[in-house]
Amino acid sequence: MVKLNKEEFNNHIFTRINNLIKNYELIKEDELIAIALSGGKDSVLTLHALKNYQNYLDFELVAISVDEGIKGYRQHGIDSAVQNAKDLNIKLVQKSFKEEEGFALDDIYTDFKSACIPCGVFRRNILNKTAHELGAVKMATGHNLDDEIQSFLMSFARGDTIKFSKFGPELDMIHPKLIPRIKPLWNTPEKEVGMWAILNDINIHLDECPYSHLSLRAKIKEFLNTHEDQYPGIKNNVMESFKKMLTFENTISTKLNECEKCGEPTSANICKACELKELINGE
Ligand code: SF4
Repeated sequence: MVKLNKEEFNNHIFTRINNLIKNYELIKEDELIAIALSGGKDSVLTLHALKNYQNYLDFELVAISVDEGIKGYRQHGIDSAVQNAKDLNIKLVQKSFKEEEGFALDDIYTDFKSACIPCGVFRRNILNKTAHELGAVKMATGHNLDDEIQSFLMSFARGDTIKFSKFGPELDMIHPKLIPRIKPLWNTPEKEVGMWAILNDINIHLDECPYSHLSLRAKIKEFLNTHEDQYPGIKNNVMESFKKMLTFENTISTKLNECEKCGEPTSANICKACELKELINGE
């Protein structure tokens, strides 16, 4: 990339995000958008970018943070979320596994092959329920270009083709209780998110989760980064291949039911969160 000064770099990154939001109509006038704010660099950039986009469109923002209960790690993220939301004057709603589910991730993760399995299921569940209660019509997440490529490769590796329908900067409304996600950083490389945070001296949570090394995502991320160094352009090629497959993924059925236990949307009879709670409680 051509060398840019701070102002030019900020302009470059925000223009790309603004164009994505505009071209895909990710946000419409008067909508209330919830932002999943972990306090990491991606969610914090999403918060700043959407605040910036309010200069061009009239819509509302609310941020939601979820404390999974990971000792020595999560509190830094929460502090950063609180600080950034305060600096930008955006309301922040704080939730935790402990209050919502009765346990911290640290208490239950050993029941699973990877802590990321219950972490992702319960966090998504809490975020969705909270956004729905707040009246938000969309949930903005900090998924960047690298995350998107990793997610797709993970679905490939697991043979989980249903997940292909989650590819793209916005997900369709497929159930009234499932808040559709939008990904304003969908085409922003992770490296640039880090550069933005450092250049602008943004208060972000940079530590690695102590459980992350156990995840399939971490292995795929390492594979892609190593190969990108050796064969520059590989990530871009993977992404372009996925884009060409969008027509195929659109034909995949994504009809949802309501969970027989809690009423949350699910593709099965019982949602993943209730299924995991049964396992944790030994039912
Ligand atoms: Fe949760 Fe896994 Fe992310 Fe850690 S790395 S916060 S356990 S999803």
